[in-house]
Amino acid sequence: MRKSTGLLIGPVLALLLVLVALAVPWRASKSAPAATPRPPSVTPASTPPPVVGAEGIGDPYFPRAGNGGYDVTGYDIGVRYDPPTDRLEGHTTITATATASLSRFDLDLRLPASAVTVDGRPAVIHQDGGELQVTPAVPVKSGAPMTVRVDYAGVPSSVAGGPGSHSPWVRTAAGAIAVGEPDIAAWWYPSNDHPSDKATFTITAVVPAGLQVISNGALLGGPEAAGPGLQQWRWQETEPMATYLAFMAIGHYDIVRRDTRFGLYLAAYDRALDPAVAAAARASVEQTPQIIEFLSGIFGPYPFRQLGGVVPDASLGFALEDQTRPVYSSTFFGDGQDVTVVVHELAHQWFGDSVSVSHWSDIWLNEGFATYAEWLYSERNGGPSAQQMAAQSYARHPAGDDFWRISPGAPGAAGMLDNAVYARGAMALQALRAAVGDQNFFAALRAWATERAGGNGSVQDFLALVKHVSGKNVDAIAQSWLLSPARPAAGPG
Ligand SMILES: [Zn+2]
Repeated sequence: MRKSTGLLIGPVLALLLVLVALAVPWRASKSAPAATPRPPSVTPASTPPPVVGAEGIGDPYFPRAGNGGYDVTGYDIGVRYDPPTDRLEGHTTITATATASLSRFDLDLRLPASAVTVDGRPAVIHQDGGELQVTPAVPVKSGAPMTVRVDYAGVPSSVAGGPGSHSPWVRTAAGAIAVGEPDIAAWWYPSNDHPSDKATFTITAVVPAGLQVISNGALLGGPEAAGPGLQQWRWQETEPMATYLAFMAIGHYDIVRRDTRFGLYLAAYDRALDPAVAAAARASVEQTPQIIEFLSGIFGPYPFRQLGGVVPDASLGFALEDQTRPVYSSTFFGDGQDVTVVVHELAHQWFGDSVSVSHWSDIWLNEGFATYAEWLYSERNGGPSAQQMAAQSYARHPAGDDFWRISPGAPGAAGMLDNAVYARGAMALQALRAAVGDQNFFAALRAWATERAGGNGSVQDFLALVKHVSGKNVDAIAQSWLLSPARPAAGPG
């Protein structure tokens, strides 16, 4: 994610309020036992008794994010959307494997569910806030595959995310856009909503004829007839994807496609964009293949089979690294071309999308790295070097500046998307580079991206890799740059 530097304080502030709200335990009364065993007397000793899956996957910042007891392999999302009323009707099938014998488990969904089946048999459901409790007709055995179908419907923009917060769902003149971090999935599909449980996706959206639907990965079909006055668009992402990186943009879009050596490039520009903004957006986003070429020269092979971008006519206040196809707020292009934001979101394809955080507390691995990629782009394209960018940023924030109170390696839920995670986070990488040398530093970045492609990692995992690759102890650098709420005494190398 990269926040827009325009005057759009509203959305950013709203996002921060959500994060602050989420930092506070939602409901003190429900202090989540991990799993509640049933009486063991009726069960043979060799079979573990079925348990209730936890309502959270164990994230230190968002205790109710994700769920326990199963691992999702695939989402088959089906939605029908009516722009004038903002009504979304969904029929989504989740394929998963139980990691424990389950008498009950949760999905994360904020729209009202009407029916759920587990392996074809109706389940009993109970919905509370963002948790959809599912009690299957018979317990699911540990290690068994399960197929869960959920029928649901609602008005996503009317559903708030928690106390004092707002809906991340954004309506546009002609349609809507589902894009957000960390929250968006629960406003349009049920899921195990946490980056540690990645899965493949098929996304089918039925909309009024004449509208376009843009999403992740490959376009399987669209527009296709789907009943009187309706058309459907089908998309598929076959590489593992975190739930927050699935997106959908519905509206009147001009679509640009061309083959590249990285796969099919497909970008979409809202036809409602101001002509000057649209021209600047195209001049920037159309550089995606060259920028991927540049980044793959540093980080290793591009991890996906499609590429592109989407620019809705919406003042989102941020750009987001949606997998294969980032979404850019139109505000980035209000003053002309902005290649830096494109570099940032494309760097996330390696750092954030292909290799995802293990927990949200590892967000430095996303934002520090994508910001550092901006500096590397500058360094190798005639601008200031990364070292100069780091030194400037260090000088800009004197000791005592609140900037230094956020530790990028442990920013807290409210500080997760604070500027310090980005700028100080990138300075931390410059400090590591200076300490271990260019060869070791870039070897470590490449090893991280290739060895963990399609998976997850933590801050500690990355630091251990840097130590392993370089043979150098970087504990003191990690402590002062990533974990201390104070300005390091010396600049970043
Ligand atoms: Zn970012």
